[in-house]
Amino acid sequence: MSDCIFCKIANGEIPSATLFQDDDFRVILDVGPASKGHTLILPKSHAANIYELDDELAGKAFILAKKIARKLSEGLKCDGMNIIQNNGQSAGQTVFHFHMHLIPRYEGQDIGIEWHHAELKQEDKEEIMKLFS
Ligand code: AMP
Ligand code: ZN
Repeated sequence: MSDCIFCKIANGEIPSATLFQDDDFRVILDVGPASKGHTLILPKSHAANIYELDDELAGKAFILAKKIARKLSEGLKCDGMNIIQNNGQSAGQTVFHFHMHLIPRYEGQDIGIEWHHAELKQEDKEEIMKLFS
């Protein structure tokens, strides 16, 4: 994807604060961090979202997320870690190249990753469970 900014970053055409890279991924600091240490994992090959991501890469991405999250957590001494991945504009995705957010959390710092909890409706439960039966 010639016009994809994360393709360019992941492949080194645009400079970034790179924490780690291998043949498949580049791990960078987010330029607009939600908290100190907010990190992004970018595959080097283009996939717009999780549905387009190759299965093997999807597996490797989670293993890498675990490794980077542990290192950030130990180094920054944060209290928690959100690992978030947005698919689609309505889910908050703004860059349409698959990426995972690693967001260190610090006790007492509200960064707004919350949602309102509704009640699980019986009709929704039945409809959704049917999809998997
Ligand atoms: P999302 O909203 O899940 O698509 O996340 C996109 C993220 O990419 C945001 O957190 C942005 O701050 C971050 N971002 C956008 N452009 C850059 C860039 N050039 N370098 C690093 N992070 C970026
Ligand atoms: Zn891309």
